[in-house]
Amino acid sequence: MQYVSTRATKASAPQPFSSILLGGLAPDGGLYLPAEYPQVSGEELDAWRTLSYASLAYEILRKFATDIPDADLRALTAKTYTAEVYRNARASESSADITPLRVLEQNGDGTLLLQALSNGPTLAFKDMAMQLLGNLFEYELAKEGAELNIFGATSGDTGSAAEYAMRGKQGIRVFMLSPLDKMSAFQSAQMFSLQDPNIFNIAVAGVFDDCQDMVKAVSNDLPYKLTQKIGTVNSINWARVVAQVVYYFRGYLAATTDNSQKVSFTVPSGNFGNICAGHIARMMGCPIDKLVAATNENDVLDEFFRTGVYRVRKPLETYHTSSPSMDISKASNFERFIYDLVGRDSGRVRDLFHKVETAGGFDLSGKLGSDGDEWAQVSQYGFCSGKSTHQDRLATIRDVQDDYGITIDTHTADGVKVAREYMQPGVPMIVLETALAAKFNETILEALGMDAERPPGFEDIESLPQKFIVMDTDVEKMKRFITTHTGL
Ligand SMILES: *Cc1c(COP(=O)(O)O)cnc(C)c1O
Repeated sequence: MQYVSTRATKASAPQPFSSILLGGLAPDGGLYLPAEYPQVSGEELDAWRTLSYASLAYEILRKFATDIPDADLRALTAKTYTAEVYRNARASESSADITPLRVLEQNGDGTLLLQALSNGPTLAFKDMAMQLLGNLFEYELAKEGAELNIFGATSGDTGSAAEYAMRGKQGIRVFMLSPLDKMSAFQSAQMFSLQDPNIFNIAVAGVFDDCQDMVKAVSNDLPYKLTQKIGTVNSINWARVVAQVVYYFRGYLAATTDNSQKVSFTVPSGNFGNICAGHIARMMGCPIDKLVAATNENDVLDEFFRTGVYRVRKPLETYHTSSPSMDISKASNFERFIYDLVGRDSGRVRDLFHKVETAGGFDLSGKLGSDGDEWAQVSQYGFCSGKSTHQDRLATIRDVQDDYGITIDTHTADGVKVAREYMQPGVPMIVLETALAAKFNETILEALGMDAERPPGFEDIESLPQKFIVMDTDVEKMKRFITTHTGL
């Protein structure tokens, strides 16, 4: 299986999986996708019904990572998807399921289900892919005798998922910037309590944008980046997307009994990484009817799926909400879907995303003066969308608590709110649960007047000893810090 860039020119050569594994953007500025989507037959789908999560992950990944020997891939997936790693399932659910599915409601309107993706070490769905990435990175680096220094910025979920995936891994160090005193106490404690010698937490006296600017400044210094072997693990990494394809198949198989049935998914969305994996599962032949993108007040994606206009937001138009992991100004994985939508025409993608950079967006509505008319085909891909606000989140968290006796987090609440707008008899609707409520307790308290339950082991996380340094927004100081600790 070869990978092509969404902005490929004649000069861009297709790459095998191992070559794109450790990187982010393609050199031409595009995102990688497989040259064609592997297809899953009905027979295969039937055979997958009885597999464990790890075996299913192996069967799906081997279609994409064709240059990794089967036995190695089997070992890597078996090591990643264990009940021990995904142990934070609700008391009534089984950790061995990895992504347990629960029926919330079944009546004349249809069936509403919740698929838990947040039972990993950091209680958010990013663990689903990041844990595999940690093992894949370690494996590839060992093969080449190489090392990698991951340098990134986080406002919460991504940084902690990366650190828990990379802690103790051979050949890998993580340097993670976060805005000093801006994360929740729980989130800071999760990251800063890691004592592993290969994890470096740097709290920056500034806001998240300052952290991102520092990462950009360091990454733009190419000679430095090269000698220090700096890499990233952001949401455009292909291996993260493909690891997420697995749970769409898993959810489908768990909610159905035979392959004539379809399901729909509602996905709390920000950077479009999660739902992009759903799109890929659907392109592979997973019988998915609708893919519903749920946004919060930052409704870039909802606007596109309603109107055909993709308009990135300015910093002042980007709101800080109570589902903060969906607070985005542009959706960094969206280009992958646009590539398929425009018939995999990389020249067209280059034009459209050039417009994003110069004019702040594009318009595919087909109306007079718009950039194209491909939007009419969006419905063929099953996409639709909806939006949820802080008041909706509070109401939904209350309803789900009252009706089904479980506490959902704020991002999942956005999903449940929007999912209800697309329920259909005969097509089960699966909402992806992207975090556990304990992570966003401030809003749970506001909605329910009580604290969210914490999984065992997290009771006193705020009182654990913390290891982090504080730094000004000083790029040179940052570089010296990295150099000192890499010894390169
Ligand atoms: C990252 C995240 C999202 C958004 O996922 P995307 O892949 O960026 O669309 C939603 N919910 C939670 C809890 C997250 O951490």
